[in-house]
Amino acid sequence: MPVGLARNTKNAAEWFESVTARQPVKATVTAQHFACTRCGKCCYGWLPLTIADAFANAGRFPLAMVWTTVPEASRAFELTAQLGMTVALPKRKRVAVLIAPTAYLPPSFPCPALSSENQCAIHADKPLRCRSMPFYPYRRETDQADMLVPRKGWVCDTSANAPVVYQNHKILERDDFDRERAALVEQAPMLRAYAETILKHYPAVMARVQKTAQNPATGSIVVGFWSFLRHHRTEDPVKFAKAQHPVLIEFISRTAATSMLANYHKYYQESAAELAWFTKQA
Ligand code: SF4
Ligand code: SF4
Repeated sequence: MPVGLARNTKNAAEWFESVTARQPVKATVTAQHFACTRCGKCCYGWLPLTIADAFANAGRFPLAMVWTTVPEASRAFELTAQLGMTVALPKRKRVAVLIAPTAYLPPSFPCPALSSENQCAIHADKPLRCRSMPFYPYRRETDQADMLVPRKGWVCDTSANAPVVYQNHKILERDDFDRERAALVEQAPMLRAYAETILKHYPAVMARVQKTAQNPATGSIVVGFWSFLRHHRTEDPVKFAKAQHPVLIEFISRTAATSMLANYHKYYQESAAELAWFTKQA
């Protein structure tokens, strides 16, 4: 099973880091403004997806399961445990683990759906994660203030001319946030059952969880998406493989010549090898 560590600097990886932060940035104002200028700058690197969005985009994104540990002292611990699971550690300690189906792209790679004009080519069908931006339902609603602070290079409008979107720790237009949160809550039992099986049968993954829990700076744990297939009883693995395999082959080629992308290249190779048998079935 491909298991790797990933340290990432952009997009979803920053959101993952924000989940693991012990102290979210404190809001200094009660009303925060935000408008998307459609610069496309946040459409690079990892993109966490719901299970449904991952399968719906198997022919577009190279997929991985990304496991992120959240310490008991974090404000995000309870919600992460609800959306994922808890793992017992030595000395009666626990760690919460978020398990996220993820479009697993190098941080320098644009989303395959981003057009040359930096527009989303699948706007009407884009994943829930993209719809909820800039909010992040893996965090409590009261801890969203710093999600409205643009990351370096992002061209979000947070001036007084932009609409107020967050006030007194409440999201004002909340339909997309609620929809993504509801999907995360609904899928949690399936992800938990999957993760428990993986931890039971793959000691290497448990060792990585324990190591990451002791030192979160070692990064998230990347597990082959194919390992999830047997847990999703309604998804046809042959259909999935026939959609996903060509994507992996393309990304093997795109990452072949860059040594800094060796971990991604290896992951794509191993995942493609795991799916190859299914692609030959009728
Ligand atoms: S699906 Fe569209 S909005 Fe989402 S990351 Fe890709 S290009 Fe951006
Ligand atoms: S970085 Fe900000 S302005 Fe640019 S596409 Fe993303 S949300 Fe919109």
